[in-house]
Amino acid sequence: MSMDPAAELPFFYGSISRTEAEHHLKLAGMADGLFLLRQCLRNLGGYVLSVVWNLEFYHYSIEKQLNDTYCITGGIAHCGPAELCEFYSKDPDGLVCPLKKPCLRSSDTPIRLSLFDSMKNNMLREYVKQTWNLEGEAMEQAIISQAPQLEKLIATMAHEKMLWYHGKIPRQESERLLYCGAQTDGKFLIRDREESGTFALSVMYGKNVYHYQIIQDKSGKYSIPQGLKFDSIWQLVEFLKLKPDGILTVLGDACVCTAPGKLPSLPTTRRTGPNSYTPAPQAATAKAVRPVSEEHVLPMDCIGFNPYHNPNEIKKLNLDRNKLFIDEVELGSGNFGCVKRGVLETKTGQLDVAIKVLKSDNEKLMKEEMMREAEIMYQLSNPFIVRMLGLCNAESLMLVMEMAACGPLHKFLSSNKDTVSVEEIVNLMHQVSMGMKYLEEKSFVHRDLAARNVLLVKRQFAKISDFGLSKALGADSEYYKARSTGLWPLKWYAPECINYRKFSSKSDVWSFGITMWEAFSYGGKPYKKMKQAEVNSFIESEKRLACPAKCPERMYALMQECWIYKHEDRPDFKKVEEAMRSYHYSISNKVKPLGAVAAAEPDMYP
Ligand code: AMP
Repeated sequence: MSMDPAAELPFFYGSISRTEAEHHLKLAGMADGLFLLRQCLRNLGGYVLSVVWNLEFYHYSIEKQLNDTYCITGGIAHCGPAELCEFYSKDPDGLVCPLKKPCLRSSDTPIRLSLFDSMKNNMLREYVKQTWNLEGEAMEQAIISQAPQLEKLIATMAHEKMLWYHGKIPRQESERLLYCGAQTDGKFLIRDREESGTFALSVMYGKNVYHYQIIQDKSGKYSIPQGLKFDSIWQLVEFLKLKPDGILTVLGDACVCTAPGKLPSLPTTRRTGPNSYTPAPQAATAKAVRPVSEEHVLPMDCIGFNPYHNPNEIKKLNLDRNKLFIDEVELGSGNFGCVKRGVLETKTGQLDVAIKVLKSDNEKLMKEEMMREAEIMYQLSNPFIVRMLGLCNAESLMLVMEMAACGPLHKFLSSNKDTVSVEEIVNLMHQVSMGMKYLEEKSFVHRDLAARNVLLVKRQFAKISDFGLSKALGADSEYYKARSTGLWPLKWYAPECINYRKFSSKSDVWSFGITMWEAFSYGGKPYKKMKQAEVNSFIESEKRLACPAKCPERMYALMQECWIYKHEDRPDFKKVEEAMRSYHYSISNKVKPLGAVAAAEPDMYP
């Protein structure tokens, strides 16, 4: 799951309470400037800095801002919790003293996971399964590629899985339930308020039941009127278990909801528009659909993420020409011919497709090359790789592929420089690394990985394409050795490809580094004004492409690893994907709760 950006700090304790923080600081000697960092129990992604000064404790709340920076209220913004602590160790800037000595976690004190952290793996799976009807490998890929976004989605819905959450029940019913059995102080439940779509907290205290309305402000934060604000209902409840914060008692035992199933009730607005896709009937019943605005589209919302439901029906090596409608619009071209837009009719509906059409006057060799490309693609099925749907041998040989309507990455980035953020590029390149990791695991070498061969289904969804040069490695071989050189994209090639014609997943890693460079330079041309001979001596003399202007340091460091001269010292895609993933997760946006509503009048006491 997504990693906490503070996870590597030895003075980060995770989800511990204020009292526990003070206990650790006491044990560590109470020196002036002794400090530790812990997870904020109220704000998703926020922290608390606990500091000792003059034998007293001071707790500063650190909020994660919408632009992904972190700051102590009234203080300046920092790009991460580590940088923030570093800053305050040099300059107190309003704190009671500078941070002097980290209170280090002992080896028997692991970082404490919050309740949400420990539940979220299962919740994520259930949510992804229900919302996108994904299972198995496709589900895993969806979770890995979009974990931060998914966590934000479920963070706002996690309460529905809690035993104290009773859904829409009348106030009288909540009282009946609370009066049943032990009438202990703090026994509580959360319910939906019938009339307003907001929540209420019902609590037992002194043998009476009290009701509090939970209001939601315009930014979507929840609170008891006049109380502290929380990103989610479950955080509010967890906090009220520790502190009463304006209510009569801290929360105690949950009044347990025994409704069968206790499945989350997902929103049921049906998605429409060009992306809408009617799944096979057997799948439709299981599918709950979340409302999606263009801005919040996830790869899984697009056709082309899920493998096609009936692979026997499509993905044929002899597609019926009558089922294929070819548009005159050309999407691109190459020396083989051109790629045209089209529609493929299947039993479950029509699919937008891209059709690679071989020039009719082409000789045998070209035909064989296209067949080989089709054979490779036939064996691959991954959300981040363009799927082949079939071959059709009619007026000419045609390779039918799923459509990636937003075109090649380099063109998209160079024409949308002002609107595409670095975070979006990181997300896309992480997807490319996932597709390449899949190829590596299946022992295929791509041999032409470049931004021009990364196609976009949507702005948020990338797929690797063009398997014209790809090879399947034999069972025992680590590399493919080309018999002779050809029309090769040399500026994307590792030294061993150029010097010895040896191709492996590690040489694809080199190309991935160049593709990253193209992406972070918004479609720039690598080694722009250099001839190939100059590039070769540039590489041999240990020089490498410079860091693109907007490229984050960690991404440039990864590129440089991809360009380690000796292939045996270069990381493989397993490592590259891990590095991309960890960076992607660490910079993902702060939660923007769905469906924020304005506050209504508070509930009355009984
Ligand atoms: P290729 O020879 O495979 O690189 O294809 C040439 C061009 O055709 C690409 O640069 C794209 O602009 C376009 N193209 C190829 N495949 C697709 C696809 N599956 N969806 C959309 N456009 C494509």
